Amino acid sequence: MLQSMNQANDVKAKDAKQLWHAMKGSKPDPNLLVAETAKGAWVTDVEGNKYLDGMSGLWCVNAGYGRTEIAQAAYEQLEKLAYFPLAHSHQPAIQLAEKLNSFLGDEYVFFFSNSGSEANETAFKIARQYHQHKGEGQRTKFVSRYRAYHGNTMGALAATGQAERKYKYEPLAQGFLHVAPPDLYRNPDDENSLSSAKAIHELMTWELSSTIAGVIMEPIITGGGILMPPKNYLKRVKEICEAHGALLIVDEVICGFGRTGKPFGFMNYDVKPDIITMAKGITSGYMPLSATAVKREIFEQFDGEDVYDRFRHVNTYGGSPAACAVALKNIEIMEQENLFQQSEQLGERLLEDFQGLLSQPNVGDVRGKGLLIGIELVEDKQTKEPIHVDKINQIVAQCKQSGLLVGKNGDTVAGFNNILQLAPPLNITEEDYQFIVKTVTESISVLNKKPL
Ligand code: PLP
Repeated sequence: MLQSMNQANDVKAKDAKQLWHAMKGSKPDPNLLVAETAKGAWVTDVEGNKYLDGMSGLWCVNAGYGRTEIAQAAYEQLEKLAYFPLAHSHQPAIQLAEKLNSFLGDEYVFFFSNSGSEANETAFKIARQYHQHKGEGQRTKFVSRYRAYHGNTMGALAATGQAERKYKYEPLAQGFLHVAPPDLYRNPDDENSLSSAKAIHELMTWELSSTIAGVIMEPIITGGGILMPPKNYLKRVKEICEAHGALLIVDEVICGFGRTGKPFGFMNYDVKPDIITMAKGITSGYMPLSATAVKREIFEQFDGEDVYDRFRHVNTYGGSPAACAVALKNIEIMEQENLFQQSEQLGERLLEDFQGLLSQPNVGDVRGKGLLIGIELVEDKQTKEPIHVDKINQIVAQCKQSGLLVGKNGDTVAGFNNILQLAPPLNITEEDYQFIVKTVTESISVLNKKPL
């Protein structure tokens, strides 16, 4: 810990000189949080301030911070076999794939990468090549939803439905189409009509079914505002994909590994995707790792004799031995401590405890599944006009001042920068839980205070 305010300011000045942070400019940020240590759900910064990390970093530290057994697993594996490419193989990758398949009914094969973006890029390339091998090379287009985020690389960003993230970087990869996502708060009839799923069928028809390679979607849109789908939405989308000959790619980068109370988010909705992408919670952020899980029958289409019949996609670090060992230990801990169930139960409890917030003038909706919670703030409950972004920033700042880090889909979702997000580590204690409820409730009520 740094001893004085001056030392802390020096660190921040050095940071501004040396580092380029997403969404920040070149001037020192006096509010910059320079983290030093973390344990459980709590992060301590270089000035000794403690914060409950209500966002698990970037929605990833599912097992919580400071797990010595995970550090030990990385150490032992690094000492034993620091690196070897998956052009060959190694035991940690094989064991991890086996473990992941134990959740998935043994129906998938795994291609490992390092980030969620890469996992999605990998999925797009596999889908296009698969259609080629089936004699349908014209199937190149992907459908995704507005408000969804799928990554920062040229294909994953093209799949993303948040214009603010693309602005100034276009043209991106070609062939990505978007439809509106379900928004049950504004369109509750969708629960029965499934009009948001029908929009996908219509788009595919208008675009020519025979040109569609696949659909990519998160089970629940996370960063775009915690948008819960109608109960039968994902199932209906899968039927639509099958009817049009397209693959369903489910992005589990955030929803996987207990975030929604199940090993994978799609398991709440009774479907089997063709391709599943995962990252973040796979290692609880302890090491970079992602995976693209592909149905075996798709994989078997890559068996031709020609070299061009193989998946020609090499990734130096993907599935490194230590990252796989870390993932295995992380999953073992989450299973031993029943953290998926704890996420499910605490999520239900939080939704109940937050019902009281709906009596506040600006709280329009509280929703989520597992420890993935969104609080939608509006100017007016009748019109449901999203609250101004300055006001949500005020709440986020108030939470931070009280020692709680919460998220917001600020400045990235045109017109809908009004949803407060919570995704704490799945192993929060009862005391942590009470702190979250109290701090969020008090911080939202700052909006009710009249200016002096
Ligand atoms: N998919 C989803 C749903 C995400 O939220 C993210 C990142 O936040 C990604 C993909 C991209 O993951 P990464 O940042 O590891 O590339």
